[in-house]
Amino acid sequence: MPVSAAASAREILVRLHDVMASRTPAQAKLNQVVQIIGEAIGSEVCSIYLLREGVLELFATRGLAEEAVHVTKLAMGEGLVGTIAEDVEVLNLDEAASHPDFAYKPETGEDRFHSFAGVPIIRRERAVGVLAVQHSEPRKYADVEIEALQTVAMVLSELIANAGLIDAAAGAGARPQMTATIRLSGQKLVEGMGSGFAVYHQPRIVVEHTVAEDIDAERRRVYAAFDKMREQIDRMAREAEFGVAGEHVEVIETYKMFAYDEGWARRINEAIDSGLTAEAAIERVQQRTRQRMRQIDDPLLADRMHDLEDLSNRLLRIVSGQMGTAAQLGLRQDTILIARNLGPAELLEYDRRRLKGVILEEGSLTAHVIIVARAMGVPVLGRVSDVRRQIADGDQLLLDVSEGSVLVRPSSAMEEAFDAKLELRQKRRAAFAALRDVPPVTKDGHRVTLMVNAGLRDDAAALDTTGADGIGLFRTEFQFLVSATLPQRERQQRLYRDVMEAAGDRPVVFRTIDIGGDKALPYLNTEAGDEENPAMGWRALRLALERDGLMKAQARALIEAGAGRTLHVMFPMVSEAWEFDEAKSLFEAQRAWLGSRGRRLPLDVRYGAMLEVPALAEQLDLILPNVDFLSIGTNDLTQFLFAADRANPKLAERYDWLSPSILRFLRRVVEPAREADVPVGVCGEMGGRPLEAMALIGLGIDRLSITPAAVGPVKAMIRSLDRDAITAEMARLLAHPVRDMRGALGAWAATNGVELA
Ligand code: PEP
Ligand code: MG
Repeated sequence: MPVSAAASAREILVRLHDVMASRTPAQAKLNQVVQIIGEAIGSEVCSIYLLREGVLELFATRGLAEEAVHVTKLAMGEGLVGTIAEDVEVLNLDEAASHPDFAYKPETGEDRFHSFAGVPIIRRERAVGVLAVQHSEPRKYADVEIEALQTVAMVLSELIANAGLIDAAAGAGARPQMTATIRLSGQKLVEGMGSGFAVYHQPRIVVEHTVAEDIDAERRRVYAAFDKMREQIDRMAREAEFGVAGEHVEVIETYKMFAYDEGWARRINEAIDSGLTAEAAIERVQQRTRQRMRQIDDPLLADRMHDLEDLSNRLLRIVSGQMGTAAQLGLRQDTILIARNLGPAELLEYDRRRLKGVILEEGSLTAHVIIVARAMGVPVLGRVSDVRRQIADGDQLLLDVSEGSVLVRPSSAMEEAFDAKLELRQKRRAAFAALRDVPPVTKDGHRVTLMVNAGLRDDAAALDTTGADGIGLFRTEFQFLVSATLPQRERQQRLYRDVMEAAGDRPVVFRTIDIGGDKALPYLNTEAGDEENPAMGWRALRLALERDGLMKAQARALIEAGAGRTLHVMFPMVSEAWEFDEAKSLFEAQRAWLGSRGRRLPLDVRYGAMLEVPALAEQLDLILPNVDFLSIGTNDLTQFLFAADRANPKLAERYDWLSPSILRFLRRVVEPAREADVPVGVCGEMGGRPLEAMALIGLGIDRLSITPAAVGPVKAMIRSLDRDAITAEMARLLAHPVRDMRGALGAWAATNGVELA
């Protein structure tokens, strides 16, 4: 036996290289391969099983009975060979027959052999066959022998794919074992349904050439790729707290650790020494790491593994020169996009007509990309684990975020059921669309103001499709988030003016930028440093009042854009009344300055405060006299009231918007506002849910700003509701709350004929 794995594999690879290059038919090549391997490692048996029509078929052997070739077949998971393929794991046994999975196949004559070692032949991370060796005397195979077999298996995977010996689907992209229908679940990030074919945002590179022609050249290629990758990672780390692609700082730190890990680079070099190309060597090392990690059941390590996978794929893309994302390649059909995470700008690069949904391995409700996806109307399922092992590029997917799941490779019956549900949804939507021109008036004649939330230029179109009364929350930070550089005042002004023009005489409430904390901008050094609790950090108005250059520019952009109209401005995260006063003064100073220079000004400027920090509720007497309106941001309010991070999926279901704490808190704000004659609305996600909206109306709130898709369902609810009746019911329930307020309100709605979509 040769002394090292590299030397051992190299000797075999040199001989295999000639076989691969020869013009002999594939079967003859396989027959030669088993001879070469058998001789090289001195084993009595060497066999190759390949996956065809879903079963593993003995394709070539040296040492087993010839009659068994193309006759012996094992199902996935059957016998030692089936187990290796199913688990994509190595088996190394000194006594094969004593293994619980051993299945005796008499036609092979294998009962003479005691020891057995088998490795999976892997393509696109799945086993497409098995390479096995056997000896008559009981012995365990040395690590170097197993290593050599694995390296050879890589080369075999190229040979059999090129020769079309495995299931056609495997060559075409789908992984053969990935044929079963499965359902993966995740967190509901953006509601909706979509059907399409799986496309990975960063396409995985399939290694096409495995045997090196010139080892030194391969080594140089890998060195250069490492240099380039390190440069990229260093740049990402420098680009402030968030990378351009949206990766979090911790991920970047881990990338950095791996990128400079000498061990990793050394192992890749060793694999090249054994005769592999740079691509094959990177993949080989990755396979080995995957296998080791699978044996260690540690979630922390699994996360790290994820990072290394990403980096390894990055290195592969650099070395093979295939750097584009799926967006740059263009979507050719209805697509469900799969990514670990995305930045908002990356999402916006995709063709919206073909993008039917997004699956993220990470993602949380407040991530920028989610806000943008919601605005684009693209459903998103987040925190779906094990995606790469379960979904192949091109797989058909049915994404149903309302169920929190995605069906992978659905049966035709499932497809029919999905289509029926989709049709029902569309019918319901059509019915809601028919409500476009009817006003949101309760049965007893109270007009509710229904507005939409927006943030992108195109969102203004939602006003016409929904018949909403205006834009109740325009998140101006979207423009900053999707831009690679700080949007200059002129660009801001143009956007604001376009939106107001599209809205016509319907009001648009512009919220000044809510950035900082977890919404850091890569091009803006906020000096916030590392914050332990960014949601409670230096963000929104806190940052804007201190770094007032940004706020002044925005004020001027808004005031100039609003020339000749009534301009509505609101400030986020007001925690104390003086913060509002200062922000308003800043705007008024800009208005005066512009006026003094003869600029056309708005007819009027109406100033509002968002109430999303509970502390402000204790200063209503101080703020109400100075504001023109209040808008309650229930997303942040809930997280602060319950001390529950709105981005933490573990807490997502724990606290209900219909809990007595929230409802009583809201009542406490609404009553003084009403007495002071200050309009008060809700612009958080809560208002977009019909049952919640019903409760809000029962508390005396008659202005809601919601996601456009919710306008129809909420309007239908309003038109079937008796406001006086729900007001009485809310008073009764809040006097004596029950634990399950949602259940109680749902039951009340049902008995009172309230339409809940
Ligand atoms: C809120 O906090 O409820 C809100 C509407 O603002 P955002 O979701 O943008 O923080
Ligand atoms: Mg908020």
